[in-house]
Parts: sequence; C-alpha cells; structure tokens
Amino acid sequence: MTCHVVPDEVSVKVPYLSYEDKHALNRLTAYGRSTLEWSSLRCGCFHCGSSFVASKITDWMREEEGADTALCPYCGCDAVLYDTKEFPLSTALLSSMYMEWFKSEYQEREAVATYAPPFSGYDDYLRQGIVFRMERSPRYELVGEVELWLMDNISDWDWLVDKGLAELYSDNMADTGSYAEEEKNQKGEPDEKNKDAGGLLRIVAHVENGGSTEYEFIDELGHVLSYPLWGEKDYCLLHELLEKYGSHLMGLLVEPFDSKVRLVVKHEEEAAAPAAVLGETR
Ligand SMILES: [Zn+2]
Repeated sequence: MTCHVVPDEVSVKVPYLSYEDKHALNRLTAYGRSTLEWSSLRCGCFHCGSSFVASKITDWMREEEGADTALCPYCGCDAVLYDTKEFPLSTALLSSMYMEWFKSEYQEREAVATYAPPFSGYDDYLRQGIVFRMERSPRYELVGEVELWLMDNISDWDWLVDKGLAELYSDNMADTGSYAEEEKNQKGEPDEKNKDAGGLLRIVAHVENGGSTEYEFIDELGHVLSYPLWGEKDYCLLHELLEKYGSHLMGLLVEPFDSKVRLVVKHEEEAAAPAAVLGETR
C-alpha cells in the first residue's frame, strides 16, 4: 500500500478535538456518495493519512439506509473525511483521528517501528503525519534502547538528593525554563538548536574534562535532545554499541516526549541513500 501523506504547512492550525468532535467526524465518513461523487472536495483518510480529491474515489460501500460510503482509494478503508467549515481538513486532523479510532493499530505499529521521519514537538508530529509514516523498516535493525532523563520520570526529589543527582536535575530545569520563555517571546529568535528533536538521531560522543563521556543525540534537522541518559547501564550499552557499529548506530525517537530512545543500525548497502527528504515543505 503506497499512501499519499502530504505534511501540512506550519501555518495550519492543529485541531484539538473533543470527544464529541471525534464522534462527529467519524459520522462524517458515512453515506457520502451524494456529496462526494464527481466533486472536487478535498478528502483525506484517517486510516492511512492519504489526501486526495473526491473524484479519485472509485469504490463505495453499499449502505442499507442512505447513500453509499466512500472507500479510500489508497487503503480501501471507510475512513474518508472531507473538508468542512467546522473541521478544515489537514494531516494534523487525520493524525488525531487515527490515534483515536485506530489506537491499537497505532500502538502496535509504534511499538515495532525502526524508522520515523524528523519532527519537532507534538504539533509538528501531527502536521507531518508521522503516525502514518513511521514504520518497521528493513533498512534499520533494532539493537537496543536507552532511557532519557525526562521531567516526567522525576517524581521524587528526595530520591534524587539521596543519589546525588539533584544538581543535574536543576540544570535541566534551567534549560526547560529558558525554552519556555523563548516560546512565549515570539519576537525573539527561536532557539532552533534546542527544539524538541524527533525521528532518526545521530549520536555524538563528547569526552568531558574529567574523562567521562557524554552523548548527544542530534536529529536530521539539527535539533539536539536536551536530556541526558537515565542511568549507568545506558551509558555502558551505548558505549558498547558505538564500538561495535560506529556511525551506523543511530538513535530513534518515534513519539514526541518519549523517554525511550531506540538504537538502530542502518544497513550498510543503504547508507548512501538518504532516509527521506523531509522538512523541505516547511
Ligand atoms: Zn486510506
């Protein structure tokens, strides 16, 4: 199945759908033949994320009560939405609907994905249709996983002080604070370097003054993950795998704010081919 996912422009507003909205949109998929046949309405399928004009629809599902229901020309699913005033069609809208109505399929695909295109933050994740484009790719093999030190992981301050880790946490708090201010201050130059990274990540090792090694994850857009590794075991694993695979070892974040970075190895014969040409539409 080759789908036709078209990432939204940055100007596209990401819809935040209520429970009722999601149901209203789901009802919109049914009995559409009289509206859609021969029309030039913009349509999209929230099963595969494809966008197309209504006249591309050739298969319809017979309904007992009412007009036929459109089937997606790309995946054959009865999950075709069309552009309305209340719910302007966008890839972000399709992404949100997919995550709601095909939740278990989404979670299953997410769990085994070894490739995802680059994205920065949650809105971008939806606009780029990453939910449809992440995949278990034969080009990348999963060899491990490390955990990052996200804020969400830290619930017990005393535990941190006990472990002598409180200082590191404070540093991260400072980073997050400055990022939040930049977001608010629209006039200021956004700090591209520290935007939320996502997708495939290059791994760069830095030997610090004390002789210890710190690792940096940098995505295809040049954004650096601003969180350190979670534990000693993760440092050892990363060290070991880097020795073994060198620059073929890459990190992978398939979801925004995920604390787990998958470690994948790019197969040599594919190394010359770019993983994807993305981000240029924005
Ligand atoms: Zn489809």
